[in-house]
Amino acid sequence: MFRNFRMVSYVVFGRGCFNQAKDILGLQREKAKSDMVYLVDDVFKGTEFSDRVPLQGDDQLIWVNVDDEPKTKLVDALVTRIKGSMAKEPAGIVGIGGGSAMDLAKAVSVMMTNPGSSAEYQGYDLPQIPSLYHAAIPTLSGTGAEVSRTCVLTGPEKKLGINSDYSVFDQIILDPELIRGAPDDQRFYTGMDCYIHCVESLEGTFLNEFSKSYGQKSIELCREVFLGERTEESEDKLMMASYCGGMSIAYSQVGVCHALSYGLAYILGTHHGIGNAIVFDYLEDFYPQGVVEFRKMVEKAGVELPRNLCANLTEEQFEKMINVSLGMELLWENALGKDWKKTMTRERARELYERM
Ligand code: NAD
Ligand code: ZN
Repeated sequence: MFRNFRMVSYVVFGRGCFNQAKDILGLQREKAKSDMVYLVDDVFKGTEFSDRVPLQGDDQLIWVNVDDEPKTKLVDALVTRIKGSMAKEPAGIVGIGGGSAMDLAKAVSVMMTNPGSSAEYQGYDLPQIPSLYHAAIPTLSGTGAEVSRTCVLTGPEKKLGINSDYSVFDQIILDPELIRGAPDDQRFYTGMDCYIHCVESLEGTFLNEFSKSYGQKSIELCREVFLGERTEESEDKLMMASYCGGMSIAYSQVGVCHALSYGLAYILGTHHGIGNAIVFDYLEDFYPQGVVEFRKMVEKAGVELPRNLCANLTEEQFEKMINVSLGMELLWENALGKDWKKTMTRERARELYERM
């Protein structure tokens, strides 16, 4: 059976296109005869950029803190706050920021219409009611969250996204100027998330021509951005690498690195981009060429990867970490084939974690 998946409905791309946000989102405000809610990464609080958020009428701007990556508790609290403070259902939810703020916008838009807690929808195709209109304006590129059908959430029992056609954005506004100011190390780690998406997709058993076409384009752009010189076009390229990388995994899957880094994130709270970079450095047995090229990128960026993360873990923490990681069955199947359990035993996972 072939997957029939939904894609983002509208895309605007180009340096300065953020200036069109008012008109684009205005159409939706008019259609819904209501106001917008902007969920904006609080790193922009008090900056010039915050004055450019195109608020109109009684639109709400809610600052979201992403020091911790999105939790189901935060999504539920945002939904309660929005429902309690707006007389009418909002015209839509707009996420401005990196993968975290975009994922929050997706999750909140789903939970504005579906009953219960967001933790009940961590899984595949669980929401039954279409979400509110939602749009994304990335300020950091690499995760592909702008095009994917998931919004990754940490809940009381698991770290798993709401994977649903209703999560997919109705509109994305891709302005490379907005990612220019991101700190270099963060730009690098989130960029490596994109590079790793491509390697895992292109080396995976789920690969097909759709994923390959996007994956090859994306990895080529990553090479230009992270092995070439930084130029005027670098941010345009990085933004499109993220988009194409996201499209590549939409029709395949990620692999070993993501499966192991989910374990790190669940136990240690390690952020997605940096967690993947830490793990990938130990995966030469699985992705030999990718790891060699990745190390060149690390060297060029002058980044020092953190080490010894697992040095002081208890037995119980190791066990839980391995459970979380090996629970990501589709990722392992994509990476190692249907018989993946023969290759990736609990002992091997433990050995890898012990080296990190
Ligand atoms: P992020 O959104 O967590 O942000 C990282 C840091 O960068 C934060 O401190 C943030 O405030 C800051 N930041 C963002 N834009 C900035 C800017 N322009 N200037 C200065 N600081 C800026 O980072 P990310 O790597 O984009 O996203 C990671 C999140 O995305 C994780 O929660 C991960 O689970 C999720 N993710 C989602 C998908 C998906 O398909 N939905 C895919 C991969 C990762
Ligand atoms: Zn990723």
